[in-house]
Amino acid sequence: MNKIKVGVVGYGTIGKRVADAVLLQPDMELLGVTGRTYSFRMELAKRKKIKIYLTEDGEADKFVENGIQPAGNIHDLLTKADLIVDCTPKKIGAYNKERYYKPYNVKAIFQGGEKHAVGEASFNAFSNYDESIGKKYVRVVSCNTTGMARIIHTINKKWPIKRVIATFIRRAADPGDVKKGPVNAIVPVLDIPSHHGPDVNTVLPGIEIMTMAVAVPTTLMHVHTLAIELKDDTPQKKEIAHLLDKTSRIFLVRQATGVESTAHIMELVRDLYHQRGDVVDNCIWENGMGVVGKHIFLMQAIHQESDVIPENIDCIRAMMNTMSKEESIALTNSTLGIK
Ligand code: NAD
Repeated sequence: MNKIKVGVVGYGTIGKRVADAVLLQPDMELLGVTGRTYSFRMELAKRKKIKIYLTEDGEADKFVENGIQPAGNIHDLLTKADLIVDCTPKKIGAYNKERYYKPYNVKAIFQGGEKHAVGEASFNAFSNYDESIGKKYVRVVSCNTTGMARIIHTINKKWPIKRVIATFIRRAADPGDVKKGPVNAIVPVLDIPSHHGPDVNTVLPGIEIMTMAVAVPTTLMHVHTLAIELKDDTPQKKEIAHLLDKTSRIFLVRQATGVESTAHIMELVRDLYHQRGDVVDNCIWENGMGVVGKHIFLMQAIHQESDVIPENIDCIRAMMNTMSKEESIALTNSTLGIK
């Protein structure tokens, strides 16, 4: 079997995790990642024996001074790659598509910071894997949209949904971001709906959804509160818990564990030796679920830095048309140690 040759452009929060995940896939080869200048992140790539390809504005001398010999430049990477996972900050992916991926006729995945229109489809493995089969350019939706798509798809398949109303309590910044806030304020997002609802519709077009959001001073995780109105059914809470408990990429947080906050979730996964303390599952508090008539109420925590990583891996296989949805999700879960 020929392995899929993958390059990662942008080695930051998402890029370094995608690179590590690609290394674990038996059907993929990580060609390397791009680097601009020497830093502790590039030192990480070097120690993991990942090849570094210089961007056009890359500072070759800084790499060499610090003991790294780049394997080439971004053009060399593009020549060899079957597919690039672009993990650059928002808007740069759209630029890179025109500047690099189109001229080199190479497939590319973009991240949630880009607009839906950057690709031929937006992607969530549960909701719409098949839409990306064989496609050239696809966007993996953001961390928040990924979390929403997973839970809405799961409930909707079993008990058809009439409407979703959700509030997003968003982390202010990632742990490594030293320049972002708020530090001591709650910042409401004044757009109604917030962009999250329409973004969910890029992967689940049939769902009526209204979203609002606030940003709060934490770096650990996002929390979503959802009110899900069903069309006909009135399931019992224990039936919902049972469904979520057996669904992959969903972690039902049981009351007896004493996990009461995002801080506890982070402590738990760090202690369980998950790489970097990542938790790619939607974490849903079992005791925080309620059913009133046709409405299901629930709260979930989403680890923004890592929940999109298995989605990027599945998206690669969909675009290369090498596996079905079920096969890819199963392989990604087993290689990344996900339920
Ligand atoms: P980041 O800032 O942590 O990393 C971006 C990387 O791209 C850095 O290594 C930077 O040096 C590199 N880069 C910048 N300009 C470049 C260029 N012109 N060419 C090549 N490399 C360049 O960003 P991130 O948080 O990993 O976000 C990347 C994408 O993933 C964005 O679209 C973002 O919206 C999306 N996303 C982020 C999160 C999150 O919580 N961090 C979650 C889901 C999706």
